[in-house]
Amino acid sequence: THPDFQAAIPILQAIEQAGYEAYFVGGSVRDALLGLPIHDVDIASSAYPEEIKQIFHKTVDTGIQHGTVMVLQHGVGYEVTTFRTESTYQDFRRPDHVTFVRSLSEDLKRRDFTVNALAARHDGTVVDLFGGIDDMQQHVLRAVGDAHERFHEDALRMMRAVRFESQLNFSIEAKTKKAIRENAALLEKISVERIATEFVKMMLGQARTAGLADFVETGLSEHAPLFAGHQRELENLAAIDPTPISSEAVVWTLIAAGLNLPVVKLMKAWKQANALSNTVQRAVALLSHLTDADAWPLYEAGAEGVEAAALAQQYLQPGFEAQTILNAYAALPIKSSKDLAVDGGMLIKHGFKPGPKLGQTLHQLEIAVVSGDLANDQATLLKAALNEIH
Ligand code: ATP
Ligand code: MG
Repeated sequence: THPDFQAAIPILQAIEQAGYEAYFVGGSVRDALLGLPIHDVDIASSAYPEEIKQIFHKTVDTGIQHGTVMVLQHGVGYEVTTFRTESTYQDFRRPDHVTFVRSLSEDLKRRDFTVNALAARHDGTVVDLFGGIDDMQQHVLRAVGDAHERFHEDALRMMRAVRFESQLNFSIEAKTKKAIRENAALLEKISVERIATEFVKMMLGQARTAGLADFVETGLSEHAPLFAGHQRELENLAAIDPTPISSEAVVWTLIAAGLNLPVVKLMKAWKQANALSNTVQRAVALLSHLTDADAWPLYEAGAEGVEAAALAQQYLQPGFEAQTILNAYAALPIKSSKDLAVDGGMLIKHGFKPGPKLGQTLHQLEIAVVSGDLANDQATLLKAALNEIH
């Protein structure tokens, strides 16, 4: 038995002893069978939430309206979700409304891909109703049931297909891919946040090249925020160095640079966090200065901006050495104005008047220190400031 499942086995046994069914389901079963690290162990059961709460002493109602109760075991929480169907799809989105059912097969058939529709008992026996094991061995992503219908029910699944294609390095089965082509426009019904989550996971996956190529080829990209009309640039991005990308900041830096999109507009359209947007703005601003290796643009980009720009440039310009830039940044005498050996208060104590001129003087000192023209010590900087004024 896989070590990640070990601690949860008593939970499955306790549910069975109470007369219900309980299985490991979803991504954890898939990843364990593939020998991949497991993120979260999901448990599905025929017991209703209230019944689960009667079996265990310590539970938390984490998502009881969706059928999920968290069972606490030695301080660790395990989510137990009642078997459910999602029958009333509206607007091509996952329904808010779920119906609890007692049958595992009903629960498994609402799942997206055959490799995600496997269930395992506490003794390791696997329930495979849709040929998920075969598909796993063939490295194939196949929709459960009729692909066309399934993408109609929930258009996010099309993004999940290219995401898993990249993450798992699987290929999308022909009928499933055809159904994506036919339904790509439905992606516009899905919230940007959910599209973005899958898109970023795809971009960070081991087979990004294939995932991104299919994202474009199936027509999905035409219905993603701001990407319409950018197939050529996206194809070019799919053709760069296939080495996996290490961070979200690098992903968005490459997208902004590759599609020549203004960063603020791009990050707003994709509803990305302000902090990330800020890093990407700094990274993209630095890209055009990377070859001259001047100190000031590096300083302005900051540690995160420099890192994202340097790593992105490795993809944009084969042979480019990110380390050169990272070293140049590390060698800067100061990293922020806070590191400057003098501040406003100190200058005022030495006879400077508060006001805009003071700020300008400090800024000049900052530039001089960053570029190496002045040493960052108090005496040197005070002297330079006084000379400048008198
Ligand atoms: P990850 O490693 O990213 O967590 P995962 O397969 O566990 O991958 P989740 O989004 O955590 O993916 O979903 C858990 C399971 O729920 C999936 O394996 C799948 O069976 C089912 N599922 C999730 N989203 C959908 C969806 N949109 N349509 C159908 N089934 C879904
Ligand atoms: Mg998961």
